[in-house]
Amino acid sequence: MDGPRGQPLTGDDVSEARDGRGQLIVVATPIGNLGDLSPRAEECLASADVVLCEDTRHTRGLLSSRGVRAAGRLVALHQHNEASQSDDVVARVLGGQRVALVSDAGTPGISDPGSRLVAAVASAGGVVSTVPGPSAVIAALSISGLDTERFVMDGFFPRRDGERLARLDEWARERRTIVFYESPQRIAETMKVVSERFPTRRAALARELTKVFEEVRRGTTSELASVLADTTTLGEVVVVLEGADERRVEPESLEREIRALLDSGKSVRDVAGELSRDLGLSHREVYRLALELRSTTE
Ligand code: SAM
Repeated sequence: MDGPRGQPLTGDDVSEARDGRGQLIVVATPIGNLGDLSPRAEECLASADVVLCEDTRHTRGLLSSRGVRAAGRLVALHQHNEASQSDDVVARVLGGQRVALVSDAGTPGISDPGSRLVAAVASAGGVVSTVPGPSAVIAALSISGLDTERFVMDGFFPRRDGERLARLDEWARERRTIVFYESPQRIAETMKVVSERFPTRRAALARELTKVFEEVRRGTTSELASVLADTTTLGEVVVVLEGADERRVEPESLEREIRALLDSGKSVRDVAGELSRDLGLSHREVYRLALELRSTTE
């Protein structure tokens, strides 16, 4: 969007252009280092009529660290009341108020509340604007050393066995770099599960980003799983996992896929056709392996 005379808009131009109109502003906040709160974010939080936050105590602390007064403007918005708060927020925005939305850390809506509210305001014809900034997914990906050209953000790794298996099945064919969040309590177990399925894929574990003990460990999933088995992981962590590479499909993973398709009643020919196409493998090789596996199960 350009300003007057085709020049890019400055911060002042943006408020001028939208003067008099209410808006919902999605504001990114630090994922650890308070110095990462941008001047625009600070200005926006200081001037908003209302600041919607996941945890009012947390946001009050952030604002007071920058000398910004909360002054009764903080309203809780979390996953349990996002739907019920939407009507009120829509009315405020359409009524001309500037409503800022923050989460406890990073960018609202990214594995945090916010997306339903944005959809509600947008579909009511309200203006939704952004003050972009930190997000753990982008921070981790950008220093992972893995391919950043195409990637998929897969939220938190599922906790239920069935959902985990389904997720791993998806990743068996996923060519793009995969990024996901995990808690420090579960990361060792999760890395073990991932490494059993994709032992030779490369990965990066990004921990405590922007904080004093920031650390990135890089290696194959098997190497990382064995390091984690011997250590206690403290602090928040993001996993960046290499995508599937047709030149290096994991043998265990391929066998498992062939067996699953044979068990579902598909013929050796169909299995070979489907998997060689999906994974970019030689039809003859997959056919041979499927025949071998079928004969061992008969
Ligand atoms: N909305 C946030 C964002 O944009 O990054 C993510 C919120 S999600 C509820 C919290 C997860 O983000 C954590 O469990 C962890 O996986 C990741 N995370 C947040 N801060 C982090 C940090 N400083 N270092 C590593 N991972 C972090």
